[in-house]
Formats: sequence, structure tokens, C-alpha cells
Amino acid sequence: MAETNSQRARVAKNPRAGRRPAAAEAARIEEIFARLAAANPEPKTELGYKNPFTLLVAVVLSAQATDAGVNKATPALFAHADTPAKMAALGEERVRDLIKTIGLYRAKAKNIVALSRLLVERHGGDVPRTREALTALPGVGRKTANVVLNVAFGEPVIAVDTHIFRVSNRLPLASGKTPEEVEAGLERIVPEKYLLHAHHWLILHGRYVCKARRPECPRCVIADLCRFKAKTI
Ligand code: SF4
Repeated sequence: MAETNSQRARVAKNPRAGRRPAAAEAARIEEIFARLAAANPEPKTELGYKNPFTLLVAVVLSAQATDAGVNKATPALFAHADTPAKMAALGEERVRDLIKTIGLYRAKAKNIVALSRLLVERHGGDVPRTREALTALPGVGRKTANVVLNVAFGEPVIAVDTHIFRVSNRLPLASGKTPEEVEAGLERIVPEKYLLHAHHWLILHGRYVCKARRPECPRCVIADLCRFKAKTI
């Protein structure tokens, strides 16, 4: 049935107000998250950080880089600068030296120092708690903002990275051609009680089990609920 204008307006205002999955599908989705939750009740980010600011910096550094690679560089960086004021004072050249093992380090050093200055100037040295203010910072896109909102501030949002995009399309949970489509779909279908940790459950599942080239289906706890045609069991 076609959506009416009032339904569309309701969805635009609140993504969770969209079309809900049918009962059988809702039960399947509930079971997927119940099993991921049982396997890892308190999932955590694998990025090392000390406070919301260092988390923001670590997430900016993790673009097109591995968490392990970022974690090798950040202890020395954060020992020098764990606040926006200290990072701005450290300056672009020193930051560049400290993160040069990470891909795209020149652009990232520039963004980190620029965003640190803006945090001091516009936010009194604090990390803002809204997506709008976060994405106004240099080098901070929607995905980075969502990770900070979720991990630092406990907001029930899902940052769709390459792992979540793949897992969500394979199972499928929410299919989509872009991260934004998948994010909107997940916000609609993930049961509210699982929304806070859904981000990490799906990332960790994609990183360690439902891998891009060779998904490890025989040890997958949700294999019987997966409809991926190329699954290996
Ligand atoms: S069964 Fe295989 S393809 Fe499906 S979610 Fe599990 S690991 Fe991924």
C-alpha cells in the first residue's frame, strides 16, 4: 500500500515511526539481536580513548584505517594532548609527527588541530552532544558523529560503517544502497531495547565473523536466521 503524505511526514520527523516489519520478520530480528546480545552482553568500542574528546580524535583517525593501527599511535598523542586546548597548542606539525603511521595522516592532523580550535572557540573546550554541532567540525561526518554520540554520550544511534553495511545487507536486516539508507532502515527495525548496543554488535559481527571475503558461517550464532545466498553452511 502506498504511503500517505501524513505517514511520510511522520517518518521524516521520527524514523522509528516508519513501516514496521511483519510479525514473523519482527520475531526473526528480535532473535538475531537476542543472540548477539547473549554472546556479548556489554560490547565496547575497540578504539582506545580517555574522554569524549580523545574518542572524537580516535574516530577521526580511524577513517580508512584499522582500530589496531589507530591504537598504536594514540597513546603517545593523548599523552601530549587529551583536551582540545592542549591539541590546538601542540600544533599541526607535532600532531602530524605523532600520527604518521596512520593513513591520510597529513589531512587528519590538519582536521584534528582545526576541530580542536573550534571546540575551544565555540564550545568552551567540550565536545558537543548534537549531530549538527559535531558534523560542523572539520573531518567529522555523520558516521563519526554517530559513533561519538553512541559511545561517549550513550545515544541510541547507529553509525553505519563498512561492516554494518555489509552485515545488514547480507542477513538482510535493513537493505540499502547507501549507509544513510541502511541507517534509516536499522533505526526503524531494531527493537528499542537493542538500539544502544546494535552498533557494536553489528560491527563486531562483521569484523570477526561475517567477514567481507570469507564469512565464517559455520561458527555464526545467527546462521539459521541469515538469508544470504552465498552463506557457507
Ligand atoms: S551465516 Fe554467514 S553470511 Fe550469514 S550472517 Fe552469519 S557469517 Fe554472515
